[in-house]
Amino acid sequence: MKLNFCSLSSGSSGNCYYLGNEFHGILIDAGISATSIRKFLKNMEISMQTIMGVLVTHNHIDHIKGLDVLTRKYSIPAFTTNKIWKSILTPQKKIPRDSIREITVKQKFHLAGFDIEAFPVCHDAPETIGFHICAGDKKITIATDLGHICETAAPYIKAANLLVIESNYDDQMLLNGKYPYFLKARIKSDHGHLGNHQTSAFLADNISDNLSVICLAHLSKNNNTPEKVLQSLELIFSERGIILNGQQRISILNRNVPGDMISLNE
Ligand SMILES: [Zn+2]
Ligand SMILES: [Zn+2]
Repeated sequence: MKLNFCSLSSGSSGNCYYLGNEFHGILIDAGISATSIRKFLKNMEISMQTIMGVLVTHNHIDHIKGLDVLTRKYSIPAFTTNKIWKSILTPQKKIPRDSIREITVKQKFHLAGFDIEAFPVCHDAPETIGFHICAGDKKITIATDLGHICETAAPYIKAANLLVIESNYDDQMLLNGKYPYFLKARIKSDHGHLGNHQTSAFLADNISDNLSVICLAHLSKNNNTPEKVLQSLELIFSERGIILNGQQRISILNRNVPGDMISLNE
């Protein structure tokens, strides 16, 4: 089975991820404009007609900016929980009724050849979920906004062959940066975002040969750089004597522009 993943945009100003097989594709979040999504997909020779749905993690604007146009203009159904729908649907955010699909956490559903399960994560929205997606024997987990890796989320993250996980901020940059104290505290809290050190430590504790692609995602514009993310990971891996096998790949996802198309062919 052909299986491709690509980040169209990742970071605090917009998140949208593509996962496709040879017939169809799905999106995870629509935090950039529908025009940008269409343009980025077209550049990769992927038509909007092949997109069978968009999975929505939570109501923050960097995850739903393009959702109304995507559902209205392209009639793409959107999938999230009842509680998240309630937090998204406002007089300003109108989604056509027949595009609204309600899902339940920890209950598998099938879409476009994928078996999908949402799992709860800790973040400062009314509800936030990650997605665990199975295609054949390949497993993809996406967890982009979470203050810490709780016991409920950890098994889904550990089970992935391709993992998209947040590495939002560098501790020193956040500490010395211009954000007001309350915002720094919010970001660092258990319901905020994962910092480079937290993510690197979790990966060092849990890396296995099954994990073939690690995508470090949702980098802060003001409190992080791709170099800092890599330094943090390399430091902790070398301290623990962890050496990646030749098949494992680490990708730091770009803000605002698509990354490479990553193939997970069986
Ligand atoms: Zn976000
Ligand atoms: Zn968020």
